[in-house]
Amino acid sequence: MSFDKFELTDNVMYVKGVGPRRAAALAKLNIVTKYDLLTHYPRTYENHSSLTKICDIFTGETVLLVGKIFNITSREARNLTIIEAWLADGTGYIKLTWFNQKYLLTKLKDGMKLFVIGKAKIDRWSDGLAMSSIDSFEILDDDEEPELGITPIYSSTAAITQKVFRTALRNLLAQMPPLKEILPREILEEQDLISLDEAIRTIHFPKDYATLDLARRRLAFDELFLIQCGLMLIKKQTQDERLGISHKKNGKLVKAALEKLPFELTKDQKKVFREVSKDMESKLPMRRLIQGDVGSGKTAVALLALVKTVENGFQGAFMAPTEILAVQHYEKFSNLLNDLGIRVGLLSAKVTRSKKLREELYQKIFSHELDIIIGTHALIQEGVKFSKLGLVVTDEQHRFGVNQRSMLEKKSDTLPDMLVMTATPIPRTMTLTVYGDLDVSLIKELPPGRKPIKTFTRNIRSRKKIYEFVRTEISAGRQAYVVCPLIERSESETLADIESAEEIFDMLSKGIFRDVNCALLHGKMKPRDKDEIMEKFRDGKTKLLVATTVIEVGVDVPNASVMVVEHAERFGLAQLHQLRGRVGRGSDNSFCILISDSKADISKARLETMEATNDGFKLAEEDLKLRGPGQFFGEAQHGLPDLKIANVFRDLDILIQARDAAEKFITDEENLNYFANLRKNLALAYGDKFNQITAN
Ligand code: ADP
Ligand code: MG
Repeated sequence: MSFDKFELTDNVMYVKGVGPRRAAALAKLNIVTKYDLLTHYPRTYENHSSLTKICDIFTGETVLLVGKIFNITSREARNLTIIEAWLADGTGYIKLTWFNQKYLLTKLKDGMKLFVIGKAKIDRWSDGLAMSSIDSFEILDDDEEPELGITPIYSSTAAITQKVFRTALRNLLAQMPPLKEILPREILEEQDLISLDEAIRTIHFPKDYATLDLARRRLAFDELFLIQCGLMLIKKQTQDERLGISHKKNGKLVKAALEKLPFELTKDQKKVFREVSKDMESKLPMRRLIQGDVGSGKTAVALLALVKTVENGFQGAFMAPTEILAVQHYEKFSNLLNDLGIRVGLLSAKVTRSKKLREELYQKIFSHELDIIIGTHALIQEGVKFSKLGLVVTDEQHRFGVNQRSMLEKKSDTLPDMLVMTATPIPRTMTLTVYGDLDVSLIKELPPGRKPIKTFTRNIRSRKKIYEFVRTEISAGRQAYVVCPLIERSESETLADIESAEEIFDMLSKGIFRDVNCALLHGKMKPRDKDEIMEKFRDGKTKLLVATTVIEVGVDVPNASVMVVEHAERFGLAQLHQLRGRVGRGSDNSFCILISDSKADISKARLETMEATNDGFKLAEEDLKLRGPGQFFGEAQHGLPDLKIANVFRDLDILIQARDAAEKFITDEENLNYFANLRKNLALAYGDKFNQITAN
C-alpha cells in the first residue's frame, strides 16, 4: 500500500474520516475498497433547501430545524422504547419523539446541537408543537452549520451515520485523480453522455437536479451497456462457432406422448409447443424462455419438447431447482414415457453421494443408455458427459445463474437447444437484462376447470378456527400444507417470536391433528427422508404437511386444497404466490390462509394485495418495487452483476439505448478485442460476477 499513489483497490480504511473501526462497520455493507465506497451510490436525495424557525412552523409541514435538545427521557410501552426530548432554537420549543431506537439513549445528550427533519404537528394532549415522525436527524458540533442543498442519503446501518458517509466521500473525491474514461468516444458522443469522472462526482454531490439526472443516466448506461455486451457476446459465440441441431418435424413418438397425456393441451400450451418445435427445427440453437404463471402447465410442454429430441435420436436433460422437484418430474415422466420405450434417468442426491451409483449413472448417460436425464444442478457437475445432448430444459430458471445455464450447454459435442421455464413474471426491462439472450413465449391461460384460490389474511387469534377449518377439509378427503418461515427457533431478538416449523408441527400433530397423519418437511433433512415424506404426501397417506419453503416451487399434489402460511409477513409476495400455487391444482375449491400479526402498514398492504389478486404478474411487480431486484431473484443467483444504479422500472429507455449501442459495438471485430480488454479493466469495476458470465 503506497500513500502517494491512489488505487481504487485500496482498503477503504485509508480514506480520511474512515479508519479501521468504521471500515469494519462498512464491511457489513459490503464496502471494502475505495471503489466500493465510490460506487455506494446514494439511495435517494433530500432537498434541504432552507431552515425553518420553530416560531414559524405551520402544523403538518415537513421542516428542517436546528436547535439544542434538553429533557431527554425514555419509557417502555408495549415492547416499544419511546424516547422523548425537547428542541429549542431561541424562537420556540418542539417535542421530538423517537420510537424503538434504544441506541439513541447513549448518543443524545442534554445541550447537544441537533439538525432535524420531519413533520411538525400540534400535539393533541399538550397543545404544543411535536414531531413524532422524524425523517432524519444529525448531531452537529457546536460551531457547525447543517449542509443545505441537495443532500445524498445512503443506505446505511446504525454504526455509520449519513454525516460519516458524506465526509468520507468528500475526502475520497478530493483525493482521487480524474477517473479514466472507459467508454469509447463515439459512444459518448452518439449517446450524449457525460464523462465517467463527472458522473461519479455529481452522483454524490449534485449541484442541481438536472445534472444529477445526467449523472444517473451515464452510470445506468454503463451498467446496462456492459450487461448487453456480455449477453450479446454469449449469443454471438453460440451462434457463430458451432451450428445448432435441426430437429425433424414432429413424428409418431411426439404424437404418442401427446396421446398419453391425461389431458388435452390448452390453447396456449399448444401455441407455445408450436413455437418451441419451430425453434428446435431451425438450424440456429433455440434459446427460449417460457413464462407462465404457477399451475399453467409448463411441464407438459417441456415433456413434449424432450420427447421430440429423443425422437430425433438425441438425449434430453431436465434441470430442476430442488431435489423434491426433480424426483416429482422423474416419477411423472417415467410413468408416461416408459411405455413408449423412452428411458428416463434420475440424477438424485442419493446417486451423487455414492461413488458406485454415480459412476454407473454417468456411464449410462455417456453411452446413451438413457434418453432423458432429470436432476438438480448435480447435472452440471464435472464428470457428467452426454453422448448426444439435443435439448436442455431448466425449470424455474431464476434460481440458476446464466453461467450455470451455459455450463450445461458445454456437456456435449453437439450444441443443444435450450428451453428455460419460469413462473416468475418478469417486467420487460428485466427480461432484456437478465434474460437478454432469450426469446420469450407466454402461457397465459390456466388449464380448464380451475377455481380461483380464495385467499384470506387472519391474525394469530383466529388460529384455532383456521385449523378447525383445515380439519373439515381433511375429513372431506383433502390434504393441507402448513408453511413456516424458519426451521429452528432463532436466538436473535428480532426473530425470537417466530414459531419454527418444528414447534408448529409439534403443536399441531400432538394437538388438534393428533388422530391425523401429519409430517414435517424441511431443507435440512436427508434427501432420502425428504423423498419418502413427499411420496407419502403425494400418495395421500399423509394428510397434513408442515413444511418450510422447500415446497415453494413446482410441487404438484392436486388433492391438496388448503395452504396455511404462518408469519406470512415474512415472505415476499412472489414467494407467497408461488406457495399459494401449491393448491388449486385440482377442480376442488381451494384456500390459502395467511396468518400474520404484523401491525406494519406495509405488511398489511402487501397481504391485502394477496387477497385481492391471483395475478402473478401484478404481485411480482409489487414485490420488485418493494424489495428491489437483488432479493427478488435471490441473492444475485442470476449470475449478473447487481444493478447498483439502473432501475428495472424506470430505465427501459436507457436500456434500449444501451442495447442498440451494444449491438453496433459488438459486431465490430476490433471492438470485440476492446471489449475483452474493457472486461479485464472492469474486473475491478464490476467484480468477478461480470467475468463469470462473459468469460467462456
Ligand atoms: P407449472 O406451470 O406451475 O409448472 P404444472 O406443469 O406443474 O404447472 O401443471 C400444473 C397441474 O396442471 C398439473 O397437475 C398438470 O398435470 C395439470 N395440467 C397441465 N396442463 C393441463 C391441461 N392442459 N389440462 C388439465 N390439466 C393440466
Ligand atoms: Mg413447474
